[in-house]
Amino acid sequence: MSFQNPVFIPGPTNMPEALRKAVDMPTLDHRSSLFGDILYPALSGVRQIIKSTEAEVFVFPSTGTGGWETAITNTLSAGDTVLAARNGMFSHRWIDMCQRHGLKVQIVETPWGAGIPTDRFAEILSADASHKIKAVLATHNETATGVRSNIGAVREAMDASNHPAMLFVDGVSSIASMDFRMDEWGVDIAVTGSQKGFMLPAGLAIVGFSPKAMAALDTATLPRCFFDVRDMAKGYAAGGYPYTPAVGLLNGLKQSCDMLLEEGLETVFARHHRIAEGVRAAVHAWGMQLCAQEEGLYSNTVSAICTPEGFNATDIVTHAADKYGVAFGVGLGEVAGKVFRIGHLGSLTDVMALSGIATAEMCMADLGINIRLGAGVAAAQDVYRGAQGHATQEAA
Ligand SMILES: *Cc1c(COP(=O)(O)O)cnc(C)c1O
Repeated sequence: MSFQNPVFIPGPTNMPEALRKAVDMPTLDHRSSLFGDILYPALSGVRQIIKSTEAEVFVFPSTGTGGWETAITNTLSAGDTVLAARNGMFSHRWIDMCQRHGLKVQIVETPWGAGIPTDRFAEILSADASHKIKAVLATHNETATGVRSNIGAVREAMDASNHPAMLFVDGVSSIASMDFRMDEWGVDIAVTGSQKGFMLPAGLAIVGFSPKAMAALDTATLPRCFFDVRDMAKGYAAGGYPYTPAVGLLNGLKQSCDMLLEEGLETVFARHHRIAEGVRAAVHAWGMQLCAQEEGLYSNTVSAICTPEGFNATDIVTHAADKYGVAFGVGLGEVAGKVFRIGHLGSLTDVMALSGIATAEMCMADLGINIRLGAGVAAAQDVYRGAQGHATQEAA
């Protein structure tokens, strides 16, 4: 009966019953007007969630990775330079994709557990007098390390050096669970997918393009076809898609946006902050450390927890699945075996989080890690009861 248990992987996330039903719908003709009743509310819902009035939102049958490809192939040309920090598996993979597309990537190697080094970015951008750098790539929430970077500060670094590069932000594990301010931060392309904050199955790449990113479509020469935003824009203008849309998932997206907006975005963000604070209180009570180097970097959607030296963190994940039917996230790349991850994004309540914390405790005790059963649960209970930390709102 392990399907009764919530998952604690940082995507795909738990699906509310209402969204599972929304995705499961009869076939409809995507060339009929019925389709527009699904598509346009979904696009406008996403626009509200990324806090933009100007962005054009496009949804492709794909995943977040396809969203990265949409961003770079629609706006850049072979030989263009982009600037990116490598501070985890997801920033690493986006860099790799750029290189495979023939882009030059100026990489700022950054410790895994640190955030985007905006001071270095400011120096590099200031030194780039000929404006060779066409885009800055930023991973808002590094899902591998549980690090949230400050995108507003990346924008400030760009503005301080008067640099005209575009700003592309991977918000795959932040958007719809943590605050994301596309217009305020001057984000030119925001990228996400359906299976994280939107609480849906995987299958959609969701992107927002600023007017500046839209203006780059015609000068960019990287090859693109399936992900060509010009075709998608033409389709939307005519009420449809350049190919067969994933109608059920789009219907789910529409409902998901309705659910999030009905709860209230700030309430959603506060819920994730509170849940994360409970998880962090538990980690502290266990005498363990987060992979994120400092409090200002703590992610409200995923916690990567360092296990004691000499212990294989992946054993916790394997044991949790085998003995308790519960999914946690393994460490990826440089932190493989060193951390395990508790995902706490999407559809989650305080009570669900307590079950994950309790399960992690059982696994650690079973595997001989020196923790007292109940210590983390009690610490989280205090947070969820409002005995501590509860009232603190997430800082922007
Ligand atoms: C999950 C994730 C991705 C990859 O998304 P897919 O939907 O698996 O392609 C990219 N970036 C971040 C930060 C992620 O968490």
